[in-house]
Amino acid sequence: MTNHPAEPSEPVHPSEPAEAPPPWAALARELDPLFDDIRELPVLPPAGTGPEALRRELARFDFGEPVALDRLIAELGGILREHTVHVTHPRYFGLFNPSVRRAGIAADALAAAFNLQLAVWSHAPAAAELERLTLRALARPLGFDPDTMLAHFASGGAEANLSAVLVALARAFPESGRLGVGGLGARPAIYVGGESHHSFVKIARMAGLGTDALREAKVTGHWTLDVADLASRIQADRAAGWMPLLIVGTAGTTSAGVVDDLPALGELARAHDAWFHVDAAWGGAAALSPRLRPALLGIERADSVTWDAHKWLSAPMGAGMFFCRHPDAVRRAFATTTAYMPAAAHGADDPYQVTPQWSRRAIGLKVFCTLAELGLDGMRAQVEHQAAMGDRMKEMLRAAGWEVVNETPLPLACVTHADARAGRLDLADLVARVTARRKVWVSRTVLGGRQPVVRACITSWRTTPADLEVLVAELEAARAECLAA
Ligand SMILES: *Cc1c(COP(=O)(O)O)cnc(C)c1O
Repeated sequence: MTNHPAEPSEPVHPSEPAEAPPPWAALARELDPLFDDIRELPVLPPAGTGPEALRRELARFDFGEPVALDRLIAELGGILREHTVHVTHPRYFGLFNPSVRRAGIAADALAAAFNLQLAVWSHAPAAAELERLTLRALARPLGFDPDTMLAHFASGGAEANLSAVLVALARAFPESGRLGVGGLGARPAIYVGGESHHSFVKIARMAGLGTDALREAKVTGHWTLDVADLASRIQADRAAGWMPLLIVGTAGTTSAGVVDDLPALGELARAHDAWFHVDAAWGGAAALSPRLRPALLGIERADSVTWDAHKWLSAPMGAGMFFCRHPDAVRRAFATTTAYMPAAAHGADDPYQVTPQWSRRAIGLKVFCTLAELGLDGMRAQVEHQAAMGDRMKEMLRAAGWEVVNETPLPLACVTHADARAGRLDLADLVARVTARRKVWVSRTVLGGRQPVVRACITSWRTTPADLEVLVAELEAARAECLAA
């Protein structure tokens, strides 16, 4: 029956014209060039297309006449190609946004097509179990015991970090869920470093602790969290009535890609009976490489870990992960009872009972598929390729006269130049000129609030030494432009 076209006499649902061909061929026509020819595209849109110009261009979509899906996809593809920073480009030396693999795209399409609902285990048992086995495989290299931990997929690192704070609160104050932070009789503090991720600012607000509760330690000369400063800050805070709730160590800081002294932070957390959270949103991938794993030493002692698959593991956007050693605290933080949700399956947690989300897509399917296609060995090789390109990038930049000011085995370089130190070269101007040339994407940041740098990170498994040559040549060309201006 279902294979036959509808008889003309049969009623056709008005929202689904019987004649519309499936759009998959049109979709393939958009996707293939993104893999085959991405190198030929400018890395970013032309400078100067602001919101007004773009709104004028897009105003032709007025939702008046229906548009055939084939045509819509072709048009959309063209628009996106032109007005997007191509983070999957081999010369996007950017903000941890990866080149995705086909496996992740295919799995994301399947998740959408089945519209997998992962609020409860029983609605999508296969997806729930595929997520579980993926998280178990990734927990082992972190040094977490898959049988005693509880892990889940999240929208991203910010949500995973939020989970850490909420779970730490639930563990330290079992009544906090009922009383709220106002009823704690204590002032819980979150300890971060000056280079920790700024999601904690929003988290302090969202958790009701307030940003005063965010206590920031100084940054060392290596741009890591200054543990001695943190220790004395905690002492002073305790004397002033603060209760150290949680200490955050970062494994791969956003600006400099450096790893905090995790063993020392873990010690300090234990000494103060505080939760130890490691934010390894980007750097977590180093756990998969025996060569890089030592850089994460101490992560295995964390109470919880944030790790984004949508960074160095090359899954498409929206794939954070939260690993936690205290399942009961996770349940206490998020569990609730309703009459309308299906009953839990025996032996499995329902995702809505252990995460901030309710309805939830099968986030982990694209991570499963990416990892299953490559295998753990293939993923290790991909991670190590990027690390090798990072080492090469630092060598080449030094050879061209740039000064690398961060020290990390992870593939991220922060550089300045004698011209900048002498006040002849403004690095913000330099980066604006580099991006205006559209051959590479790099950014400018300021380390520790005092050291302006150009930041370049290997985020693509496509990046080759030839791309690094273009990077160095573009920095040099822009430097010459700046000096001539
Ligand atoms: C990216 C990042 C985050 C935030 O993660 P999202 O996935 O963007 O929500 C948090 N911490 C660190 C160290 C990061 O690099």
